[in-house]
Amino acid sequence: MKYFLDLAQLMEKIEKISEKNLKIDILSRFIRELEVNEIKITIWLILGNINEEWVDNNLNVSVGTIIKVLKNLNIDLKDLSFLYKESGDLAEAVKIIFERYNINKNNWFKRKYKIIDIYNELKKIESLNGEESRHKKILYLEGIYKNLDPLEAKLLTRILQGDMRYGVLDGTIEDVLSYLYNISDDKIKHFHALIGDLGTLAEYLYKNKDINNISLRLFHPYKPMLAEKAENFKEAIDNQNYIFEFKFDGIRAQIHKEKDKIKIFTRRLKDVTNSFPDIVKLILENIKNDSIVLEGEIVAWDFKNNISLPFQEISKRIKREYNIDQIIKDIPVRLFLFDIIYLDGELLINKDFLTRRKILESVKNNLDIVPYIYTKNEEEAKEFFIKSINIKNEGLIAKKLNSLYLPGKRDRSWLKIKGHLEPLDLVIIGGEWGHGRRKNFISDLYLAARDDTTGKFLMITKTFKGLSDKEYEQLTKELLKYKIKENGRILYFKPKIVVETIYDEIQRSQKYKSGYALRFARINKIRFDKSEKDIDTIQRVEELYKKQLKLEL
Ligand code: AMP
Repeated sequence: MKYFLDLAQLMEKIEKISEKNLKIDILSRFIRELEVNEIKITIWLILGNINEEWVDNNLNVSVGTIIKVLKNLNIDLKDLSFLYKESGDLAEAVKIIFERYNINKNNWFKRKYKIIDIYNELKKIESLNGEESRHKKILYLEGIYKNLDPLEAKLLTRILQGDMRYGVLDGTIEDVLSYLYNISDDKIKHFHALIGDLGTLAEYLYKNKDINNISLRLFHPYKPMLAEKAENFKEAIDNQNYIFEFKFDGIRAQIHKEKDKIKIFTRRLKDVTNSFPDIVKLILENIKNDSIVLEGEIVAWDFKNNISLPFQEISKRIKREYNIDQIIKDIPVRLFLFDIIYLDGELLINKDFLTRRKILESVKNNLDIVPYIYTKNEEEAKEFFIKSINIKNEGLIAKKLNSLYLPGKRDRSWLKIKGHLEPLDLVIIGGEWGHGRRKNFISDLYLAARDDTTGKFLMITKTFKGLSDKEYEQLTKELLKYKIKENGRILYFKPKIVVETIYDEIQRSQKYKSGYALRFARINKIRFDKSEKDIDTIQRVEELYKKQLKLEL
């Protein structure tokens, strides 16, 4: 069994390495030595989780709580806060303070905790809730921190914050598993997406070796297949092998059912079952099969005018946790199914789209399927596009008839066709306090795309346009949760909040690190449903720059 200190020393070493293969080599050696009951949790902890990936970090330990714990250990808070402010990295500040003041010096290098001990402690902390929970958490954490080495204290602080910064991403662990079990990277990615959690996958490989027997687990979400952006309408038409469906602007629903139990997960694998009792009822009334996994879009609906309502409406359902009966009436929704993934014990992802669609038709009873047409005629497809836009949808998704379902993959067998220059999903990395009416809001926002080769977030534009005052107010509240540092009027944030951004043109520019700038950028909407992992890449910006194609409708 490995000790938490072993893990802390490993992570410290990894943090200083930028060479990918060396990182994989060192991590592989460590993971290879783990025992069966520690492999899953070690991978979880390395990635900053204490549950399967799709479960939110529920530790609820704020920076304030950690600081209170440290205060109780007689740590000089002035020094700590100076270091923290300077670097924006609380965990690193804790490490330096532990070293500088020999905190717990008698316990250093003692290897008191095994990895599994710390994991168990964290699970206990997670289970504390209610009135006294903050106080109990402080006592608990004090008991742990009191026995830690500087490096362990750093690692624990990072896990508590759910912000790892050691340079180990999902892709790194995928590479490690691919190397350890001699399985292609593509296959590892595929099964990671299907099983939905890397720790679980690693444990499975440890026990079984044969990856091909892995199947979907009911009530554990898989990562959904995603669509690529169409460069123009012709791409789907010329290929003559696509069906066109309405692209609704709602919430993607992954619906798992076994007997009378149902769970609904979003595209980001959040369990939203409790927000949609009306959809649960609808499924129970219509689906007679014992076990099934369906996919569709849940859309807020204006029944009077028979049109869909924008994403903002349906997102209110998810935010509301009480009085659901009332909100069912206030924000009525419809479900439009578009895929079937699993039926009565059989995984259907290796059947082609057309076969899956026929199976879906045969089990759906009175449930709705997304409106679609199959046509080889460009004019007809464009008319269908306009029909979709007219009922306030985003456009169309074209799907290749003979394509398999590829979990977690963005693939050209699904093509999004939208009406204007493609918006970019960017992440907010900084901002400035506004002026006048907006002086209490962060309104000038610094937006970044991800560099696929380094994983870094590079700034591409600055904008204060697009949102209402109310939205700026809400955004400011959210952003302040992620503040790293503040320098006069300028603030920097952890890259967390994603915004869909529209613009008139992409230009080359020396002004920003990305090498590009967006002309007349404005925010189209805040995408709380997306994470920094989902944003557009600099490589994508480069492609768009080269093409700068508008859809000719
Ligand atoms: P985007 O969020 O722009 O990448 O578009 C992909 C999203 O469109 C999916 O995750 C679904 O939530 C949504 N969507 C709407 N209609 C459909 C459809 N007919 N088929 C697949 N996805 C759809």
